[in-house]
Amino acid sequence: MQQIAPLARLIEQLRALPGIGAKSAARLAYHILEMDKDKALQLSKAIVEAKDKIGYCRICFNLTDCDPCAICRSQNRDQSVLCVVEEPRDVAAMERTREFSGMYHVLHGSLSPLEGVGPDELRIKELLMRLRDGRVQEVIMASNPDVEGEATAMYLARLIQPMGIKVTRIAHGLPIGGDLEYADEVTLSKALENRREML
Ligand SMILES: [Zn+2]
Repeated sequence: MQQIAPLARLIEQLRALPGIGAKSAARLAYHILEMDKDKALQLSKAIVEAKDKIGYCRICFNLTDCDPCAICRSQNRDQSVLCVVEEPRDVAAMERTREFSGMYHVLHGSLSPLEGVGPDELRIKELLMRLRDGRVQEVIMASNPDVEGEATAMYLARLIQPMGIKVTRIAHGLPIGGDLEYADEVTLSKALENRREML
């Protein structure tokens, strides 16, 4: 088949997205070509706008279009409880449960010596700085229930507990090796409710 260069490029770009194989990339590319030009422009504009306007909150490092983010600025959240998660999408998962009204801190990954991710690659220094003013009384470790997530929770618990702050770990209603973001709201609510003190 004759290669149409712009189409090949579009397929290649789509294929680079997570969870998109060669077939899906081609299907999406053909779909985009069938779209009204207006609709296609809206799609490309949405990508550019999201990239332009969204950054990280300087306090919690969640994604936001205003800095500090709405959660960090809110007067209605419990400042004494801080939930530590791996990724911004985990904050979204926790918020969907409507069970948690405290603050968040996004690490942007988990400790993984095999992949060269050490403490300096995560937002750990910033977390410890946040805990210094004495406002936070409980830190909930909500890293994923996999090897890296458990190691990260343990590492942080050892640093934080000597500061006189209670450290809890969300319960294991969550599927082992699973991602927090894929847990349904009920499972995640239960895991939060049944959290246990660490160490
Ligand atoms: Zn924030």
